[in-house]
Amino acid sequence: MTVKQYDVVVVGAGNAALCAALAARQNGAKVAVLERAPEDQDGGNSRFTAGAFRCVYAGVDDLKKIMPDLSEEEIANTDFGTYTEDQFFDDMFRVTQYRADPDLVELLVRSSLATMVWMRETGVRFVPIYGRQAHKIGNRFKFWGGLTVESWGGGPGLVDRLKSICARNGIEIFHETRALNLIHEDFAVHGVRARRGNQMIEYRAGAVVLACGGFEANTEMRTRYLGQGWELAKVRGTWCNTGDGIRMALDIGASPAGHWSGCHAVQWERNAPEFGDLAVGDQFQKHSYPWGIMVNALGQRFVDEGADFRNYTYAKYGRVVLEQPQQFAWQLFDAKVSHLVRDEYRIKQVTKVKADTLEELAEKLEGVDPKGFLDMIRRYNAAVDQDTPFNSAIKDGRGTRGITPPKSNWANTIDTPPFEAWQVTCGVTFSFGGLRVNTGAQVLDTDMKPIPGLFAAGELVGGLFYFNYPGGTGLMSGAVFGRTAGTSAARVVAGTLAAAQ
Ligand SMILES: Cc1cc2nc3c(=O)[nH]c(=O)nc-3n(C[C@H](O)[C@H](O)[C@H](O)COP(=O)(O)OP(=O)(O)OC[C@H]3O[C@@H](n4cnc5c(N)ncnc54)[C@H](O)[C@@H]3O)c2cc1C
Repeated sequence: MTVKQYDVVVVGAGNAALCAALAARQNGAKVAVLERAPEDQDGGNSRFTAGAFRCVYAGVDDLKKIMPDLSEEEIANTDFGTYTEDQFFDDMFRVTQYRADPDLVELLVRSSLATMVWMRETGVRFVPIYGRQAHKIGNRFKFWGGLTVESWGGGPGLVDRLKSICARNGIEIFHETRALNLIHEDFAVHGVRARRGNQMIEYRAGAVVLACGGFEANTEMRTRYLGQGWELAKVRGTWCNTGDGIRMALDIGASPAGHWSGCHAVQWERNAPEFGDLAVGDQFQKHSYPWGIMVNALGQRFVDEGADFRNYTYAKYGRVVLEQPQQFAWQLFDAKVSHLVRDEYRIKQVTKVKADTLEELAEKLEGVDPKGFLDMIRRYNAAVDQDTPFNSAIKDGRGTRGITPPKSNWANTIDTPPFEAWQVTCGVTFSFGGLRVNTGAQVLDTDMKPIPGLFAAGELVGGLFYFNYPGGTGLMSGAVFGRTAGTSAARVVAGTLAAAQ
């Protein structure tokens, strides 16, 4: 067996891993990154993202620290608002039904801005998310939903940039190298055993950072932990996140934590492939449902499409669609709101129908009971509050009266042709259950003690997300915990973090 020696070995080459590798290197460690995928598919789920990061900012001065290229014109024409620590705390606890680990949330929230500034200083570029997170009101853009910044070039831009910064800093990335187990001797982790083709390699190190994703791409684990039916979900991102890091750590006594039967899952093109397609990226998602209605095979609505801004509902509505008969729904819009439908609805790879009358539409909605559908539309249209004005920039309170489920905001009658509908199913993004870590990103064992030499970051950290998730938090938490893990790991190796030993 070939043996290689490093200070810190990082497993995975997504956002969390590359942030960990950079932080470890900045703290003096010799670092190796092991990536299971070939080079043209590396970057994991991070590569599939739009690159949206949820971070705290007190106003435009903070945003200028992250985006020094913001022009005077952009600043003059934009109401960026603020996103305070209190708002981020509120969002995290509200959407997770107050189950999120307060210590981990505190690290995430309070380090978010500093971590963005650090990424910017290492060379990552960010831009405002004008396209998806701002409405134009008169001559000014107004941001909404606490999500304002994305990486330049989206997910691919982020990963490629991080990789080139790693290369510049002398960090080696080994592709097609799949970590199989941890080298665990004398109750401490001393490296990783990996397979590269038909060769086994031992990467020995003073510390290991696991940042190799959750188990969402593992059909068997999805069904075992998320439950019956989850084998039928599409995987939005990489095929590589099969729970290897979680399993390796549990094998040596790590403690599981978080919502093991929970996951982030969205509405996704019905006929999308089993795993993500990098040529399409996140465009299979269909996130404009707050402006329309959703119907199932019975022709019935089944969820409050306007319960909240999309950022706070999209991650849990995939599960709701999976629970419908035959695991599909149609999202439906009339001409009054068609200008609000996002770009992702206009790609070629969609299952879409268009009709000039509701009766014609009812016949075209494949798999849907036409009579049930037409009855439901009549009841729905009669229930819409016509007195409150429609306003897509705020939670407008224009709801329905007397029907179940209600639509709480942005309710409009469906009566103006042409009618357009897109068919969706459930696309799983990432699993919520994972490893228990402390605020130093050290992995804890089942006696709640740090496992010497073992750190974790990104999707495979358990305890942050339950039931739901505020958009843009995956990359942010990956960066915060990645940076923390890399720093702690390097310090352990340098002998300055006695607590881990
Ligand atoms: C379509 C889509 C859009 C999204 N959009 C956003 C967004 O805009 N903003 C946001 O915050 N979040 C978004 N997310 C969620 C986000 O992608 C994740 O939260 C985040 O990227 C996870 O980062 P990570 O580094 O933990 O994992 P990943 O980026 O998935 O990286 C894990 C890496 O580990 C590798 N790996 C797995 N097993 C092994 C092994 N045994 N050995 C070696 N390597 C291994 C994988 O190949 C992969 O490269 C999106 C996800 C998807 C799928």
